Amino acid sequence: MTDQSTTPQQTDRQLRLLVGLVASTAGLVLASTVVAAALAPVTVDLILRTLALTVLVAIASLTQVFIRIRSTHQAVHWADAAVLVAAVLLPAPWAVLCAAAGTVAAKAVNRMAPMKFVFAVAKQTITCGLAVLILGLGDGSGTDPLADLGLLAVAFGTAFLADELLVTPVIALATQTSARDRFLAHFDLRVVAAVVRFAVAVLALAVLAEEAELLIAIPAIVLSLHLTYRGKLRARAERLAWQQLAEATDAMNVVQMETVLHTAVHNGARLFSADRVEVEVSLEGAQQLVRGTHSQITFHDAPDQAAVNPQTTAIVPLVGDNDGERVGELRLCFRSPVALSEREQFTLRAFAGALCTAIRNATSYAQLEDLAGRHQHEATHDLLTGLANRRRLQLDTEDALDRKRGGRGVTALLVLDLNHFKDVNDALGHGAGDQVLIAVAQRLSAAAGDEALVTRLGGDEFAVLLRNLPAPALALYQAEHLLSTLHEPVDVDGMPLVVSASAGVATGPCEGGFVELLRRADIAMYQAKRTGRSVAAYAPDNDTADRARLVVGGMLPRAVAEKEFILQFQPIVDLASGEPISAEALARWQHPDKGMVDPRSFLGSIERSGLLTAFTDAVLDQALAGAARWRELGCRWPVAVNISPRSLLDRRLPALVTRRLDDHGLPGDALVLELTESHTVSQLDIVDKVLAELAELGCMIALDDFGTGYSSLSVLSRVPAKELKIDRSFVTQMENTPSAAAVVRSHLELGRHLDLLVVAEGVERDSQRHMLWDLGCTAGQGHLFAKPMPIEEVLALITADDGPVRLAPPLHDPAAVVRMPAKRSPGRAPRASGTTGSNGG
Ligand code: C2E
Ligand code: CA
Ligand code: CA
Repeated sequence: MTDQSTTPQQTDRQLRLLVGLVASTAGLVLASTVVAAALAPVTVDLILRTLALTVLVAIASLTQVFIRIRSTHQAVHWADAAVLVAAVLLPAPWAVLCAAAGTVAAKAVNRMAPMKFVFAVAKQTITCGLAVLILGLGDGSGTDPLADLGLLAVAFGTAFLADELLVTPVIALATQTSARDRFLAHFDLRVVAAVVRFAVAVLALAVLAEEAELLIAIPAIVLSLHLTYRGKLRARAERLAWQQLAEATDAMNVVQMETVLHTAVHNGARLFSADRVEVEVSLEGAQQLVRGTHSQITFHDAPDQAAVNPQTTAIVPLVGDNDGERVGELRLCFRSPVALSEREQFTLRAFAGALCTAIRNATSYAQLEDLAGRHQHEATHDLLTGLANRRRLQLDTEDALDRKRGGRGVTALLVLDLNHFKDVNDALGHGAGDQVLIAVAQRLSAAAGDEALVTRLGGDEFAVLLRNLPAPALALYQAEHLLSTLHEPVDVDGMPLVVSASAGVATGPCEGGFVELLRRADIAMYQAKRTGRSVAAYAPDNDTADRARLVVGGMLPRAVAEKEFILQFQPIVDLASGEPISAEALARWQHPDKGMVDPRSFLGSIERSGLLTAFTDAVLDQALAGAARWRELGCRWPVAVNISPRSLLDRRLPALVTRRLDDHGLPGDALVLELTESHTVSQLDIVDKVLAELAELGCMIALDDFGTGYSSLSVLSRVPAKELKIDRSFVTQMENTPSAAAVVRSHLELGRHLDLLVVAEGVERDSQRHMLWDLGCTAGQGHLFAKPMPIEEVLALITADDGPVRLAPPLHDPAAVVRMPAKRSPGRAPRASGTTGSNGG
């Protein structure tokens, strides 16, 4: 694959054609001037004058500034001023000969390559020819140039424009850049410089007419003007280069490796005007080579070991600042050798440094994403059978029930429980039991079809989500069909085992969503077992709980209005010291007849009932009142409040929070908002706005039940979270389930990478506390330390002793341990307002 849209051979051919055209035109001009010169009388004075002016043209051509474009240099010089003087002082044919001869001499001194040489001479011949033609339109005296200033200006301007029009396409072609860009680059400076040169030429002519001796001063003027121009050009190039460098490094500040590398190639080519740029990454597991130009990528694959020509390539190793680790190599390739200026070399080093950092960031991001992806899979799949698990089932069921998101037809949930599975386990051992479960999983999956989701709920319980059924009756039919696949005996170590199961079916939609649907399917399944049938459909008549639930729903508005909801507080503690660092507020319904009602049984109804804002407000009010009371006793623990994902859709939430904070005279950082991941909600822009406003207030945002919902990492990139709570299910299982331990470990790693406080939920045993601490977790919450308690009990705890509140003995003898980094030990340091994070460290 080539790196240019046209091959170098093609370019060369086009260049030769263009230069040939210009040269032939110049040849014609020269031939006619030679004839004209030969016909006119020749004097010694004319020859001397011509010689002198030829030398002038040559010197003026040599006084030049170079601008590098890729490996081509464009020169800006004084020749046109000298040519104008010659055109005024000499007869037309002699002036043209003088211009051509002066250019020949200058380019010979420069030892210019043949093609460039021919082009330069031809171009000068043509532009001078044009100038003398225009001057010939005047009265022809030429002795007083100032009298015919307008004509002089037209002649000079025409020559200047002709020069530009001849040079631009050739340079553009030679450097493979756009002619328009070439024409516009520094155009203003070039025009100003041309005007200055014209003025100098006019001045020289005037001096010559009046006081020839003063001509001595002209070179000094030219030199100082020339140096000024060169300085301006350089300063501007420098400013532009720094600006471009800043833009280029900014653009690399992204986390996707591909974007980093492609941006580096494009911007590197632009910044250093290179014909081609290569970036090779040699990090383990990420080896790749990207090659391309300022506008396109021509190669992106494993490094191809193509030979590098050190003569035409600037090679910069990409090495980490801190550890000196070699990340890869940056190569700028030119068509012919180029010496980079000191400034360019400096810019190149800065660019390489930024690229190195960007590559490393992208690598860590990719690793993190990979990690999160793997644990995402583990968190939503059953390890034994490879089936999806309950979490996946919940998310998919909610999706299917949500008509707004395309749920068509009937959604049904089937719960299936193996009969006498315990006997298999007891008689033949767990190995045999596992084989049976795997076989059942395979048969169900094969029979269920694409529209269905087969999951294992745990033990010998499976659930199948049936989506888009044309009619509810088909759910029962499907259930029968699935059960029939178990009629064939299962082969366990050569022994045929007969497996049977009972199933219950419930169809949606129903008030209460997934949880309710699952409960109904479960009730139906027990109904089937009780009556000895293989399949039963849910019948409300058999469900006593359902009626009670309706009553609960009906009582909600009154409960909210009467503030029957109260809060209990559960401390969150520093795992090392056993001291609280904050407390979570948990809602309870103090029901007049039923006593305390569990939050999970009424939260769903509240969310759907339109009472959510009033409920959230009541919770915030009570939680902050609690926090204000323990503050009075000298404990600056923030209070954590659970916020339903739906509340984030409410624009008024930040105002609500502000008002409640003000009511209790508390700063924003006295409040932690615990959010559960919800993929529907986190996708909406309004949520981003609300979250940003809450973060602005100084409230800390914690991601609750982390790892149980949708892609955790994508949520983290959008939510300004400072804390992450590991779901209780992982903590409960981590000691005997390796996958749960892996999830805990990965969450802690994620927390460390992103500098988040990680709190483990549901710590019930001392062994769990130790294991968590060993894994690097610093904070925990659970019955081991304290159960949720009324505010009075919290206050009593604080006032019980003089010393710090301690809910468990310290892990280490405080006197024997040197407390190392603040990050590992949250402690109970007073929290300055403005800082967020309940760890104060
Ligand atoms: P969550 O935010 O994950 O709260 C932790 C739950 O785990 C609480 O259950 C708590 O009592 C329980 N827990 C704490 N330590 C242990 C332990 O060591 N072992 C066991 N087995 N459980 C422990 P709770 O109070 O029943 O709350 C259930 C869920 O209800 C909460 O889960 C939260 O998602 C929601 N919730 C509670 N209060 C509110 C509220 O005011 N607003 C909203 N939107 N949701 C709330
Ligand atoms: Ca919570
Ligand atoms: Ca939680």
